[in-house]
Amino acid sequence: MDTAGRYAPLFEPLAIGPVTAPNRFYQVPHCTGMGHALPQTLAAMRGMKAEGGWGVVCTEYCSIHPSSDDHPWPFAALWDDGDVRNLAAMASAVHAHGALAGVELWHGGSSVANLASRAPTLGVRSTLGRSEPIQSQRMDRRDIREFRRWHRAAALRARQADFDIVYVYPTHGYLVAEFLSRASNTRSDAYGGTLANRMRLLRELLEETREAVGDRCAVAVRFSASGHGDEHLSADEAHDVIAALGALPDLWDLVIADYDEEMGSSRFVRQGALEDRIAYVRQLTGRPVVSVGRFTSPDAMLSQVRRGIVDFIGAARPSIADPFLPHKIREGRSEDIRECIGCNICYAHNSRGSALRCTQNPTMGEEWRSGWHPEHVTRDGAGSVLIVGAGPAGLEAGQILGKRGFQVTIADAATEAGGRVSREARLPGLAEWGRVRDYRLGQIERLANVELHLGSRLEAADVREFGADHVLVATGSRWRRDGRGRSRSQPLAIAGDGRVLTPDDVLDGARPTGTVVVYDDDHYYMAAVLAELLAGGGARVRFVTTAGSVGPWLANTAEQARSQRALLELGVTIEVSSSLERVAADHAVLSCIYTGAVREVAADVVLTVTDREPEDSLYRALVGERETDEAAAETIQRIGDCLQPALIAHAVYAGHRAARGLGTAPRVPARDRLVL
Ligand code: ADP
Ligand code: SF4
Repeated sequence: MDTAGRYAPLFEPLAIGPVTAPNRFYQVPHCTGMGHALPQTLAAMRGMKAEGGWGVVCTEYCSIHPSSDDHPWPFAALWDDGDVRNLAAMASAVHAHGALAGVELWHGGSSVANLASRAPTLGVRSTLGRSEPIQSQRMDRRDIREFRRWHRAAALRARQADFDIVYVYPTHGYLVAEFLSRASNTRSDAYGGTLANRMRLLRELLEETREAVGDRCAVAVRFSASGHGDEHLSADEAHDVIAALGALPDLWDLVIADYDEEMGSSRFVRQGALEDRIAYVRQLTGRPVVSVGRFTSPDAMLSQVRRGIVDFIGAARPSIADPFLPHKIREGRSEDIRECIGCNICYAHNSRGSALRCTQNPTMGEEWRSGWHPEHVTRDGAGSVLIVGAGPAGLEAGQILGKRGFQVTIADAATEAGGRVSREARLPGLAEWGRVRDYRLGQIERLANVELHLGSRLEAADVREFGADHVLVATGSRWRRDGRGRSRSQPLAIAGDGRVLTPDDVLDGARPTGTVVVYDDDHYYMAAVLAELLAGGGARVRFVTTAGSVGPWLANTAEQARSQRALLELGVTIEVSSSLERVAADHAVLSCIYTGAVREVAADVVLTVTDREPEDSLYRALVGERETDEAAAETIQRIGDCLQPALIAHAVYAGHRAARGLGTAPRVPARDRLVL
């Protein structure tokens, strides 16, 4: 089948006001944790997406003025000429591949804290922000005039930096959204009260941006088609705003009210989930529309365009997982697409104030720093490599080493490839994680110089006998059974017939019933997902955590609230700030982490989710006495969880880095810094 022809509608150019996008692949604004702090990293990363065929590539939220400073999160900025130079590097990297560059002008209003700039924060009213005990300054008419002047000046700087699309951003609770909000905007002047008054500022910004830069740049607006929740801006009011402003912007970039759904993880939100709420806008405005939906299926993309839901396929995560997704569709290589798995590890790192990374794409964020290209490696490999373990680390190393030209053998004791990914993908909501395995197996299948042997447990003698030039040990890790972890340095006391299970037991098929205490000292997804599985299977589950909520780290992946809600809806009892002291035949002893007060709770079984133990016995046996011998260390390496139990993203990255580095001179990644 002529796949490229079939998807031809996705490759038709389309005008957006005064500029023309070369195709329908549109990387919408998304956070990177790079922003103003890592300008060269940012430029190379965005440029790579243009190289991969994205027709429009946008910045993240780009602050217009020091009164909108989101420190410690590295937002983009257009405050001054230095910022213009830094962002011009990004626009230029995007233009080098024929794509349009967009910039999302942003003012955080009451949400930010201005920790670095120390300017007073501004709001439609004086209110507490997102996280700091700081209230914003209520804006008076002069402040509004100033704000409009700053916005216009930033638009002019955007044009100077050579951007093609300039956004006005009245969404996600930031300053212009505060004005739209019935609850926040209690003004009695021309900017408050009726909807027409509340949208006055948005209208002025659109008109003034067009007047300032509209001769050369398209003016886009990012807007929630379903409003911001009834108390702020109802869905009907959002409709009325869109109807009133219709053709004022050149493009509508549509989101929805619930951010946790808009960028929901695959555990909770399916591909294309926004459609029912955004579908009405294109007809209403007559302007080109873009929206997201974590689209990785070319057919789903085509369907959206064919049915007139959108003109552009918006993507943040799919473009992170595969910057070359458009080219792969055009070339009829859909099977080579590295599909986003919806884990939100990308977002999590921005949430931590660090640069973007991706579970599926280990080159993300390394384009400039390490000089890694997501599709190319040098074919310079000579010799043979044995990889023990076909989890994410082993499979990634195998496919990259194969592409480099090494003779690669991968052996795994299990009868299926994928290691932890295959096991965990069977848990509730995690099926898409299997894509980490599937992409790599697909690549390996097409490499004649890579062999995969399943059902092959190797001991040190087998490895020695095999006689490969290089050995990579990627044997993973096992969950600890003794309760040791973040909160406990000594083994847990288990009295009498007390039954303790680990996540590995459940992954191996154990399904305890009766009263089960799930004890979480890990604070990410595993305990919550297992509790959901067991409660769904009829167990009476008591979720005990040393943290103050269910899986607090899940807040970084926009999953915490939904995880806690899911457990509550399943009737799970949640006990926070409690540590597990002892396990007996029919009960567990818990203690309050603040007072030390102990109490007993019924428990037929205790499932502990604490530390993992590296499965490094093979490595230790191989290295043995030679541990200090540098020559040996060069040919025997351990990678992934067997070196450092961590996220799947770490294992993939470790496999990639080891494979790129094998037999080459060590390279210290470059350090990005502000260009003065
Ligand atoms: P990582 O996340 O680091 O890739 P995983 O735990 O996902 O680690 O995968 C490790 C894989 O190593 C598992 O599939 C396991 O079956 C395999 N493995 C562990 N020990 C051996 C061994 N001695 N021989 C072969 N395979 C092994
Ligand atoms: Fe998708 Fe996960 Fe990569 Fe983010 S980190 S782009 S959610 S695979």
